[in-house]
Amino acid sequence: MASLINEVLSNAAAIAKGMSITLVEMMSPTVTEDYPDAPPKFQERFRGVHELQRDEHGLEKCVACFLCAAACPTQCIYIEAAENTEKTRISGGERYASVYNIDYSRCIFCGYCVEACPTDAITHGHGFEIASYNTSTLVYRKEQMLVQIAPGVKPPVVHEPVAAGGH
Ligand code: SF4
Ligand code: SF4
Repeated sequence: MASLINEVLSNAAAIAKGMSITLVEMMSPTVTEDYPDAPPKFQERFRGVHELQRDEHGLEKCVACFLCAAACPTQCIYIEAAENTEKTRISGGERYASVYNIDYSRCIFCGYCVEACPTDAITHGHGFEIASYNTSTLVYRKEQMLVQIAPGVKPPVVHEPVAAGGH
């Protein structure tokens, strides 16, 4: 009889302990994200889809030095360089990236490219909705990653080449 009473008391204590934990959790603030009904909240350091930055004049910060591509452990950055000219200025340096691709089917979001960049041209944004059934859509081009010219910033003057015979 005594052992039965002890067992009942022991079980009751265990239930009370379990319920106390449930009660505490019920009173705690909810931390569950409502995504996709509401945008998720990111820490500043979250490494999402890259952004290619511009300077205060609206020029591209990337000077096509290839250091990010050299630092990338998965070789998923592809760059083609071109020279700025007097008539066409894209970046603040001598060269700019005429092509800048990142293959997100291979990128591991390690951040080495960001650390390697001498001009802070490439940073991680917070974009993350890139899942796809078609891996060809995971190759992001410069135009998809380049940030917009900030409001109020005068866009860089780009003189189009004059057509032969034109005025
Ligand atoms: S985050 Fe890492 S893997 Fe992705 S492009 Fe940069 S260096 Fe390469
Ligand atoms: S993003 Fe930075 S490291 Fe990469 S090519 Fe441009 S300037 Fe160089």
